[in-house]
Amino acid sequence: MILKELSISEIFHSIQGESSFAGWPCAFVRLAGCGNGCNFCDTTYAETDGFMLEIPDIIMQTQAFRAPIIEITGGEPLLQPAVYPLMQQLCNLGETVLLETGGFLSVDKVDSRVHKIIDLKPPSSGVCERNCPENITLALHAGKKLSQTFEFKIVVASREDYDWAKALLLQHQLYCSCIVMMGVIHEKLEPSTLAEWILRDRLPVRMQLQLHKYIWPLATRGT
Ligand code: SF4
Repeated sequence: MILKELSISEIFHSIQGESSFAGWPCAFVRLAGCGNGCNFCDTTYAETDGFMLEIPDIIMQTQAFRAPIIEITGGEPLLQPAVYPLMQQLCNLGETVLLETGGFLSVDKVDSRVHKIIDLKPPSSGVCERNCPENITLALHAGKKLSQTFEFKIVVASREDYDWAKALLLQHQLYCSCIVMMGVIHEKLEPSTLAEWILRDRLPVRMQLQLHKYIWPLATRGT
């Protein structure tokens, strides 16, 4: 693959639904391909439906939405080498750029201006052992300002997942330097149950719901 084009699953305009930027109108670039095989993956269609697009065309299509933020997501966006110049060029144009990554690859080569939303996959995902430990190290060793561009996202489906997440957060004190968002797998765990656990444990994380799934409960893509 040449370095100026990417395999795209979809480019669309929606409401950012699952991060500290939730609620903002957002231009999404969903890159095709992942292969991590997580249970509960809600973008399996991105594994196969790809079309090639060059970076200038991607930039033109995303900027046409005139959204305050642009998010690069997947699939797993970091699998495609051309994602790095894409993010860099968007930042150079003054755009606020989010990267949402499954967390099994290092974000070490991502432009420091990009806000990185990194999954920490709990046991129920089936791929817990594939979380890249370097991402936690990078976040902990980033300076005070840069650590604010690291955001960890944990979506739990059970008490086992929650206990795993709590232990990890306490071990690294991740919430002291980075944003940590915690949510539930839609229809697997009641939000009120997770809220009770967080409050009882005085766990300093931000709880979130998958906003787009409440706005468009029947949509399977493009949200
Ligand atoms: S990393 Fe994300 S896109 Fe890849 S399988 Fe897991 S949930 Fe799906």
